[in-house]
Amino acid sequence: METRILQPNPENIRLCAQRIKSGGVVAFPTETVYGLGASAFEPRAVREIFRIKGRPNDNPLIVHVSSLEQIREVADLVSPLALKLISAFMPGALTLVMKRKSCVPDCVTAGLDTVGVRMPSNEACRKFLAECGVPVAAPSANTSTRPSPTCAEHVYDDLRGKIPYVLDGGECEIGLESTILDVSGVAPKLLRAGGISIEELERVCGLKIQTASSTGKALCPGMKYKHYSPKAEVYFSAYYGNMFGGINAHYDLLVSSGKNPVILCLDKNASLYGARKVYRMGADYGDYARMLFASLRRADSQNYDSVIAEGVPSEGIGAAIINRLVKSSGGKII
Ligand code: AMP
Ligand code: MG
Repeated sequence: METRILQPNPENIRLCAQRIKSGGVVAFPTETVYGLGASAFEPRAVREIFRIKGRPNDNPLIVHVSSLEQIREVADLVSPLALKLISAFMPGALTLVMKRKSCVPDCVTAGLDTVGVRMPSNEACRKFLAECGVPVAAPSANTSTRPSPTCAEHVYDDLRGKIPYVLDGGECEIGLESTILDVSGVAPKLLRAGGISIEELERVCGLKIQTASSTGKALCPGMKYKHYSPKAEVYFSAYYGNMFGGINAHYDLLVSSGKNPVILCLDKNASLYGARKVYRMGADYGDYARMLFASLRRADSQNYDSVIAEGVPSEGIGAAIINRLVKSSGGKII
């Protein structure tokens, strides 16, 4: 199959939506990462997503919607707390896990009695979803285990020949996946840190949010799998006063054992690494997040075999960066 990258003009948006409505699979942009979508009500198309990505089928998909009415089509009970979060953060980078309606196929939810729902804010995505007219089930549009795609070319590199269209919305504004909050029980639980910070959620909820680390177990079904991994070995520094000394020592150790490493660092820290190879990750942690997955892919294409990522503080978007780096490094923290 030929894979075409399409600019998001009205004609192409219609073409992609038509494909979804007729039971096909299409990649589309969002403000977090690119998604690989199918109609949430077409089990055969949803199963295609798993096949194309090589995704384990016990890892549920997020259902993408364009309106509150569509949330009610898939969620059985939208609680007052859920409504408060919807009005504060949707459209945006928040996925809410709620009790599902029985019309949602098992393959979307991996047999769970809940469904994850998100309303993206990206302009092209909103037009596409509105044109689809059905909720669109979608995971990230990468081959399973690879870093998530943050531009159309990343999708093309992973899925060329396997899907007909990639709707090109340019570079993703956030660059990391949505925050997943489970509001199906009595107390809201954070299942995955992401584009909306825990602090923002707590402010709106007016209460402390339970996290996986506070309960000591992995809450998100997908989180047990290898994730976000380039070919290079990823090392991730803890965030502390002299992390630069530790990173330099680790870099030099890798070089002396014949490796070819690169350091991911904020612009302002680049000079602390002397003549060592660095990728500048921008001025702040928002930039770092936006460039993270692209930098992991870039390291592979430039034949670096090791990546050392600077540590970040755990507030705000930092919590999501740490989560992705712990995953992509397989826990190799220096
Ligand atoms: P991805 O878009 O590739 O990041 O994958 C979607 C993520 O959403 C997976 O890690 C799932 O575990 C999570 N997710 C989707 N639906 C649910 C649900 N009903 N309960 C818990 N997690 C979910
Ligand atoms: Mg993913």
